[in-house]
Amino acid sequence: MLRAQLINNLRRSTRSFSTSLSASSDGTPATASLGFQLTEDQINIQDTARQFARDVIIPAAPHHDRTGEYPTEIIKQAWELGLVNTHIPSKYGGLGLGVFDSALVSEQLAYGCSGIQTAIEANGLAEAPVILAANDAQKKKYLGRMSEEPLMAAYCVTEPGAGSDVAGAKTNAVKKGDKWIVNGQKMWITNGGKANWYFLLAKTDPAANAGKAFTGFIVDADSPGITVGRKEWNMGQRASDTRGITFEDVEVPDENRLGEVGQGFKIAMGAFDITRPLVASGAVGLAQRAMDEAAAYSVQRKTMGKPIIAHQAVAFMLADMAIQIEASRMMVWRAGWLRDQNKRNTYYASIAKALASETANKCASDAVQIFGGNGFNSEYPVEKLMRDAKIFTIYEGTSQIQRLIISRTIAEAAMQDQ
Ligand SMILES: Cc1cc2nc3c(=O)[nH]c(=O)nc-3n(C[C@H](O)[C@H](O)[C@H](O)COP(=O)(O)OP(=O)(O)OC[C@H]3O[C@@H](n4cnc5c(N)ncnc54)[C@H](O)[C@@H]3O)c2cc1C
Repeated sequence: MLRAQLINNLRRSTRSFSTSLSASSDGTPATASLGFQLTEDQINIQDTARQFARDVIIPAAPHHDRTGEYPTEIIKQAWELGLVNTHIPSKYGGLGLGVFDSALVSEQLAYGCSGIQTAIEANGLAEAPVILAANDAQKKKYLGRMSEEPLMAAYCVTEPGAGSDVAGAKTNAVKKGDKWIVNGQKMWITNGGKANWYFLLAKTDPAANAGKAFTGFIVDADSPGITVGRKEWNMGQRASDTRGITFEDVEVPDENRLGEVGQGFKIAMGAFDITRPLVASGAVGLAQRAMDEAAAYSVQRKTMGKPIIAHQAVAFMLADMAIQIEASRMMVWRAGWLRDQNKRNTYYASIAKALASETANKCASDAVQIFGGNGFNSEYPVEKLMRDAKIFTIYEGTSQIQRLIISRTIAEAAMQDQ
């Protein structure tokens, strides 16, 4: 089907979903009441992503894992189907899906290959600060082009010396007339070598505290002074493109500044309320794949005269996977749903991210266990899942940082009760 036709179908879906959102008389969205039944439109979106993962991603994933080749053609096809940039508002040519609906998509894509899903999702991470803080002209220019062409974007915050400690970032931007001059080095940037533009966090007031020291910018990737490093060869998710990027006297026009000077930290961190539930849904997709592969294997493989699923020790590993996956998915849905209701979701986004990423690691590791020696071999699908899973506990805030956020919220609530 043509892209335009598909987008229209999905837009209609989104519109009918929003209509139901504003249906109740007291102004409370209809979905504010609790319910776990997906609408027909949501099932359609989910099915489109599921079918794409089964037909296109799964067959190609081993090749991209082995070679590290960037999945350009697959991303183009996903873009044609409307599965990339799902949350760009319809005013700028996107589907304008909420976090909940986007999570339905990302879970399915990651079921196919979480490396390919990360490459796709990194666009969402770069776009989130723009959606949050850009003015209309910036949105038209930079979100608009993502809707017009299958382009990539990247989120440049981490540096060689500052990952968890974002406040320690040193890349700086100095104002000169109507331009900013950027110098510094970013590291571990997903889509770093493929991006058309970057969201960049740079220090603009070294004397201020973190909350006021940084400013966000949109930087065209072809700006003179940008050097893109080599593709990093990572443990897993090798289809995705991770690089260091150096900025040397890069001129950025003031019209590319996002929001007010000094608001960058808030904007960069605010993006995570949108994207952490989606990283978590990717982890759920990987965990579900691990369970499905392990279950299929365990009914075929026989030891001591019976399929290994008939050994309770194996069956209970599968049961534990199901418990963790179902719980993780519910946390993703809760975090996404809250965000879509315009409610603060930071605490739930962190719980979803920590729980789902650790679930993915446990499920992938147990799937390897269920496959026995075959599980350790790259001819079988589960060793890739185990390698791919690890990064979920690291990027977009490590599991320790999620616990920092969660425990701070608990502490604040406890203090208020005193
Ligand atoms: C494949 C990949 C893709 C990535 N993509 C991007 C991207 O697109 N854009 C981007 O900006 N960044 C990206 N990152 C960077 C990623 O977000 C960071 O690696 C991550 O936040 C951790 O930072 P770090 O590596 O500096 O580790 P560190 O911050 O040095 O942490 C090291 C260890 O110490 C722990 N730790 C640190 N501080 C604390 C604390 N206060 N309390 C308790 N424990 C603590 C951490 O949990 C971790 O276990 C990516 C990284 C990788 C590997």
